[in-house]
Amino acid sequence: MKKSLLKKFTITHLFLILGGGLFIALLFIFLVVNHPTQSSIKSTSSTVTSQLSTTISTPLPTPTPKPTPLSFADMSKLYGPCVQLPTLMYHHIQDLGIAKTEGHASLTVDTKYFARDMQYLSDHGYSVLPMTSLISFFDNGTPIPKKSVMITIDDGYDDFGTDAAPILAQYHFPATLFVPTGLVENPGYLHWSTITSIAASQPILMANHTWSHHNMEASLSVIQHEVTTAETQLEQHGLDNPKVFAYPYGLTSPTAINFLNGQGFKLAFTTVYGNILCKQQRLTLPRVRIGNAPLSSYGL
Ligand SMILES: [Zn+2]
Repeated sequence: MKKSLLKKFTITHLFLILGGGLFIALLFIFLVVNHPTQSSIKSTSSTVTSQLSTTISTPLPTPTPKPTPLSFADMSKLYGPCVQLPTLMYHHIQDLGIAKTEGHASLTVDTKYFARDMQYLSDHGYSVLPMTSLISFFDNGTPIPKKSVMITIDDGYDDFGTDAAPILAQYHFPATLFVPTGLVENPGYLHWSTITSIAASQPILMANHTWSHHNMEASLSVIQHEVTTAETQLEQHGLDNPKVFAYPYGLTSPTAINFLNGQGFKLAFTTVYGNILCKQQRLTLPRVRIGNAPLSSYGL
């Protein structure tokens, strides 16, 4: 009984020892096989690096890539002399709530934001220049002060008289109003009496924006009719000096550019974004379209 118990005990022990030994041996083999060596770490990390660099060097899918804007030096070489002169572009200056109900909110800067913009220019030491300064720069090389801007307002809406002009007057800021002369006196547009009285009391240039707000990708006869009719109407009211133009919808054409050049236009503005104004592009000048965000968000 005692003997068989001892025997049983020893056999159980033997199995335990053998089993434990086998377990340790298997564990050891497992660890050796799976333990990463120095070289395997290196190859793993280089795989990660190569995967990373592959990710970085693979171009992102960009269906409509943006062209890199030309630098001031590049622009000067191609079209110079040039000047950095952001030309702010506004349309309606009006209560945004009213603009929404009238369906032209996208063309509207709220009157209180326009006032804030003018205050910003004043507070930050900007010189607000008239068109004559840019013409003098192009024609005579008269320098433009650093931190200068110009203000343009398109289309001759009646809110220019009620909302924009009084704020501009407060700061004595010059500006240019581009007037489609055939639309004057229409509902929602200025009257000639308002236009002439503002032009007489403030440094506001009333400039050509065609007769019927017609796009300038038209035939020569249409361009001629649109531009000269507007010119005649502005001249009849003692305006249109200097001769500055803005293309309706920002649409230009070689025919229009040639025609304006032949008519002695000094400057013409598009709606293309840009703040570098160059002499050789004086009839296709860029502007900066201002919305309801603060002026600081437009690089000013
Ligand atoms: Zn317009």
